[in-house]
Amino acid sequence: MKNNGWRKSFVWCILVIILMLTLVTSFFAAGDTISLNAYDKDSIHAAASDSSYLIRLTALHIESVAADLAACGYDVQWLTLTDDSVDLIVNDHEYRVLEGQGYTFSIVEKSRPFREIQAELSEGLDDVPPGYLDLAEIYDEMNTTATTYPLLCQMVDLTATYGTEPTYENRHLYALKISDNVCADEDEPTFLMVSCHHCREIVTPVIALYAIEQFTTQYGSNPQVTALVDAYEIWVCPVWNPDGYEYVFNVNNMWRKNRHYFSQYSSYGVDLNRNYPFGWDGPGGGSTDPFSDTYKGPSIASEAETQTMIAFSDDQHFAKVMDYHSYGREVLYGYIPSYHSHPFYSFFQSEAVSISYQAGYGGSIRVPSAEGENFQWQIFRNGSYANLMETHTSFQPTYASALAEAAQIWPSTVWLLERPISVSGNVYDASTGAALTASVTIEGVSFVNGECFITEPSFGRFHLFLPPATYTLTFEVPGYVPQSHQVTVTLESAEILDVPVHVPNETPLAPTITGPTSGNAGTTYKYTFVTTDPDGDDVYYYIDWGDGTYEDWIGPYLSGHQVFVNHKWDEKGSYTIQAKAKDTHNAESGWGTLDIEMPLSSEHSLRLQTRIHQQSPSIEQLFFSRVLRMFM
Ligand SMILES: [Zn+2]
Repeated sequence: MKNNGWRKSFVWCILVIILMLTLVTSFFAAGDTISLNAYDKDSIHAAASDSSYLIRLTALHIESVAADLAACGYDVQWLTLTDDSVDLIVNDHEYRVLEGQGYTFSIVEKSRPFREIQAELSEGLDDVPPGYLDLAEIYDEMNTTATTYPLLCQMVDLTATYGTEPTYENRHLYALKISDNVCADEDEPTFLMVSCHHCREIVTPVIALYAIEQFTTQYGSNPQVTALVDAYEIWVCPVWNPDGYEYVFNVNNMWRKNRHYFSQYSSYGVDLNRNYPFGWDGPGGGSTDPFSDTYKGPSIASEAETQTMIAFSDDQHFAKVMDYHSYGREVLYGYIPSYHSHPFYSFFQSEAVSISYQAGYGGSIRVPSAEGENFQWQIFRNGSYANLMETHTSFQPTYASALAEAAQIWPSTVWLLERPISVSGNVYDASTGAALTASVTIEGVSFVNGECFITEPSFGRFHLFLPPATYTLTFEVPGYVPQSHQVTVTLESAEILDVPVHVPNETPLAPTITGPTSGNAGTTYKYTFVTTDPDGDDVYYYIDWGDGTYEDWIGPYLSGHQVFVNHKWDEKGSYTIQAKAKDTHNAESGWGTLDIEMPLSSEHSLRLQTRIHQQSPSIEQLFFSRVLRMFM
């Protein structure tokens, strides 16, 4: 390959490619729908290595062809399916593969910068409404809202807050936090509204910005909205794929993935809604082909955007999540049932129907077509009430139409925020009040995928969305005594459980008894009792003097402090003093013992007799009857 002939033909080749490139560019700029076969495929690749095409593919048995293509990771636009055709969005690579496999298709539209489309739409109109905002304008809008409503809104740089990696093109991810006392981290349930994992779905930031406007402008005047903003911490993330969003505006309006470049393949982008851990490596996971529009990435949560969402969610433990996409006008719920089961599947289904009606989508719902998606991971990881909403009927409708869609679905946002959390509450240390990270298990309900119900770290807050039934919930914290509660849940339940948990109680040590081990009956002696409770609890003592008399749980006394108790034995003999201790939780120690001898002294007993006579004639009689018996 090192001869001059080859070099010459190489140079010619380059010249031809440049010529073809110029021709192809001018053809596409004319906006024609052109049959693919009119072009040399290599020149298309050279002309627009990052272009996408909306193609219309025709075939017999089109539905099964489309299903096969979708299974291979092709981006099938199911709403366009007819008896003999379906639309797909393909990149150059996929385009060439389809062509090589002999499929029949035509180009409906070739990607171009969205800015250009927007400019054309606005041209010649006197009263142009403000159109779609680009990334900088969206952030400006969020900042302006935060400045206008400083007590309600806060712009949060999530990448900086969680110390995660910026995106491939070095951008940070932002949220607008909306709540009363927004600057404080309050003990309130959290709601995540996230848009634009897929950057061409530009209706979805419009929906997020519309919601921001409603929450802020109606606060204080609309009691319903005011109550929600007071009760929740609401996090709105209008653009989760900022690199892609910029690319849509400036280069390719059909782009879906992020802009991560993989030099080993010369490919761009990971489908950010296929990169989450749940189901990533299962049969429902996204494509393994780096050129596919649904490429799931080289590893679980490989993308900075995913890592930031994970850190953000692990901190906030969102009670509710809505992930906006387009298009389709339907609500997606749960996992793919044939791959992953969930005990609350039918409950998820009926909730999705309600949300769909509230959005004006007529109850239209479906299970997702893939796994590794954000909302599925939120269900799995934090037991969130999480769904995905496919909005509108196209990716880039007129701005007025996008705005109308946002207004239409707004009631569904209010509805899902008002949807009661079946059971919620806080788990904390009973003695210090400190919030605890607890796991919650539901007796008799098995989560075969290992779903977690963990309290969030700041307030020990938990949330459980449960289908109507009676449940036994057990709260467990390492180092604490597990605690169970029985709750009966209905669709309207908003049960609040207070869960103060205790460290396991340790029993006090067996008491040590000190004092004279021999002496005379009838003489009072002082004995010392002491024990230590490992938890430092106060203690009580039970003392059996061995002569049929007892001290019945005297106390409380401080742990480790000596307790003095006097006793006398009336009769000579051998005795064993036994003492046990218990703490304030009624945990009893073993017995401590002390053996003593009380030989009778007659001289002493006569002195004693006199004293007893003065005090108690009946005891005197008893004493003498016993003494007489001894000498008889
Ligand atoms: Zn999407």
